Amino acid sequence: MSVVSRFAPSPTGYLHVGGARTALYAWLVARAAGGKFVLRIEDTDRERSTQAAIDAIFEGMQWLGLTWDEEPIYQTRRFDRYKELIDQLLAEGKAYKCYCSHERLEKMREEQMAAGVKPRYDGKCRDQAEQEGQPYVIRFRNPQEGSVVFDDHIRGRIEIANKELDDLIIARTDGTPTYNFCVVVDDWDMGITHVVRGEDHINNTPRQINILQALGAPIPEYAHVSMILGDDGKKLSKRHGAVSVTEYRDNGYLPEAMINYLVRLGWSHGDQEIFSRDELIQIFKLSDINKAASAFNTEKLNWLNQHYMKTLPAEQVAAELAWHFARIGVATEDGPALVEVVKLQADRVKTLKEMAEISRYFYEPVTEFEEQAAKKHLRPVAKDALQDVRDRFAALSNWSAETIHQAIQDTCAALDIGMGKVGMPLRVAATGGGNSPSLDVTLALIPRHTVVERIDLALEFIAAREGNQ
Ligand code: GLU
Repeated sequence: MSVVSRFAPSPTGYLHVGGARTALYAWLVARAAGGKFVLRIEDTDRERSTQAAIDAIFEGMQWLGLTWDEEPIYQTRRFDRYKELIDQLLAEGKAYKCYCSHERLEKMREEQMAAGVKPRYDGKCRDQAEQEGQPYVIRFRNPQEGSVVFDDHIRGRIEIANKELDDLIIARTDGTPTYNFCVVVDDWDMGITHVVRGEDHINNTPRQINILQALGAPIPEYAHVSMILGDDGKKLSKRHGAVSVTEYRDNGYLPEAMINYLVRLGWSHGDQEIFSRDELIQIFKLSDINKAASAFNTEKLNWLNQHYMKTLPAEQVAAELAWHFARIGVATEDGPALVEVVKLQADRVKTLKEMAEISRYFYEPVTEFEEQAAKKHLRPVAKDALQDVRDRFAALSNWSAETIHQAIQDTCAALDIGMGKVGMPLRVAATGGGNSPSLDVTLALIPRHTVVERIDLALEFIAAREGNQ
């Protein structure tokens, strides 16, 4: 059997973390089996579905590299097909017209509630004659005997007695098909073999199986994924910070880190934490997904992100970093190659956004100095050291980490001062702040004349402050 799995979002908002994880699991099922992964846009709720949400979902999937194999299916474009099958079920007596008034249904519901039984349709119209000119809905004739059994990949065997299920409405008074019916028809037409979705759909599954059977369609395999909780144990929501996948991109996370993080939210393979995409494709099994809800853990995501910033090919990280620089309006054409910045900064930050922020001085002029750092290090006592190292830099014919290092040491020796007395003022002068990677390699990435100009600026700054005192 060739595996076909799908992701079927309702486009009423962005792609959130929970949806992305479901999509990832479904994608892995297909990729692990060398099968197909398809997308279905469940846009029948026209009030709440928007093109912006559809675009956001595609964008999130693309960013994560969750590629799909066919043109996405849109439910709103398939009404003729749903209608055709509803008519067929009607003709075969597997569905029937129900003329019950809203009032009758409401009254019945209230009585059932009062009697403490689950509200369900009583089947009054099952064998009613046609009532010409009367409004009606169409109900599926659910089997009354026996039970529906399925083996959920995550939850194990699930059995529901048919008498628990009432006759579901499959078409409304205006003829439009209802949600469960569309899903069934689509899963069949798309040849879906594996349905991976949120556990909130588990109650729909027995109903869907009965309809599939009535249509003579094969029954797919099911996996209902548990929900994700925030780090406080409550259902993950906006309160917990970013919930849209693209917000993680904007905040500086790598797709590799996000994939690795998402897959581990409820799936495990021994005590291994780091998984490349290719490895996941090799080893992923639905049955290794945990039944318990999983909790979000930002620290772990940060840890993974740093791991990938440090270990992925620098070119790949640099491509993402370029995006973040562009986002904060920093042009990087003039200045060091981004791969150098990645190599230098990866173990100093948790995200690429931070990396771009703290690396501005490679591409932008230093026009002011961080207040605290300047107060501490750009003081009159630093003047001689700065002047001395400035002159040595100005005289260098070869500008490299080694020659820079040597010049700094020469200043220390000439003035008989410790490294810190030169290093810190120089760091603040050249980068604008008190934090940077090792000075020699950092400065080597900035043109010599720029470093000299920045030291001059720092000397002026000290002189101006002195003058004010
Ligand atoms: N559209 C549903 C949702 O977004 C998914 C339905 C399904 O996967 O069967 O929750």
